[in-house]
Amino acid sequence: MTVFNGLNIWPRLSATAIIANLLFSAPILIYAQDSERETDQATQLATIDFVVGNAVFILLHEFGHVVIRDFDIPILGLEENAADTLAAIGLILADENQSERQPRLSEYLAMAVLGNLLIWQTGIEKSSNEILFWAQHEVSVRRATRLVCLLYGSDTREFGWLAEAVEMPESRRDVCEDEFTIARNAAEKVLATFGKSVEDNPELERTEIEVKYGRPRNPTQARLLEVIQETQLMETVAKRIRNRWVLPDSVTLRVRSCPSANAYWDEDYRELIFCLELLEALEKIGSGPEVQRLKANFAKARD
Ligand SMILES: [Zn+2]
Repeated sequence: MTVFNGLNIWPRLSATAIIANLLFSAPILIYAQDSERETDQATQLATIDFVVGNAVFILLHEFGHVVIRDFDIPILGLEENAADTLAAIGLILADENQSERQPRLSEYLAMAVLGNLLIWQTGIEKSSNEILFWAQHEVSVRRATRLVCLLYGSDTREFGWLAEAVEMPESRRDVCEDEFTIARNAAEKVLATFGKSVEDNPELERTEIEVKYGRPRNPTQARLLEVIQETQLMETVAKRIRNRWVLPDSVTLRVRSCPSANAYWDEDYRELIFCLELLEALEKIGSGPEVQRLKANFAKARD
C-alpha cells in the first residue's frame, strides 16, 4: 500500500489549452460566484484533463488491440500488456516530437497512471477474485507502476519526480531505462514492419475510421459527450491511427451508452466501443484532490 502514500505529494501536470478553452466557456461555470469561480474552474479543469488523459490512453490501448489482431502480431505474454506498451510508447514518442506550445502527451499518460492507482484504491479489484485473479489484464496498480517505469525510463531526469511520488524503489528504478528501451524497440519494430505512413505513401488508400455517437442516457453523459465532441478527441485519435496504419478493413469508433463502464474492440463487427459510462466513472474518480494536486504540481515543476 505504500505506493499510494506518494499520491499526496505528486508534483506537476499542466492543463491543455484546448480543454481550458472549453472549460472556461462551459455553461456550468456561469452559476459560480466570483470568489468561488477560480477554485471551481481549477477543480473542473483538473478533472476534465484527467478524463481526457485517461480516455486518450484507453483509446490508444484499444487501437493497440486492433493493430495486434489485424496484423496477427506475435505476442509473447499478455496481449493486454502489449496494448498498454503500444499506447504508452505512442504517447511518449509523440511527445518528443511536439513543440513547446502543444499539450504534452506524456501528461495524459501520467493521468492514466493516476487513474489506475485510483481504480485500485477504490478496492473494486481487491473485493473480486474474478478480477483480481482471473481478469485478462494485470490489476490496475501493476499497470500503473509499469507505466510509471516506462515514463521514468524514457527520461529519468524529467520524470524523477514521478518515481519519487509513487515511492518507486531503487531496485525498480535501476531497470526502467532498460524496460523503456525494450518497449520502444518493440513498438518501433511493430510500426516499421506493419505500419504504413499514408503521408509518405500518398498512393495508399486511407483506412476509413468513422466516429459515431450514440444517445446519452442522462445529463452527466450528455455533458461529458459534449466535452468529448467539442475537443474532437475521438476524431483526433482516429486521424492519428489512420495516418500510421493501413488496416485491412474499415473501423467504426462508436461512443455510446452501455450496460457497464467499458471500452473494447469488437473484432466481428469491427467496432471499437467506448462507453459513456466509462467517462462518467472517470469523472467520478477524478474529482478528488489527487488529480488537482498532480496537475498543479506538474505545472509548477515545469516553470
Ligand atoms: Zn485491452
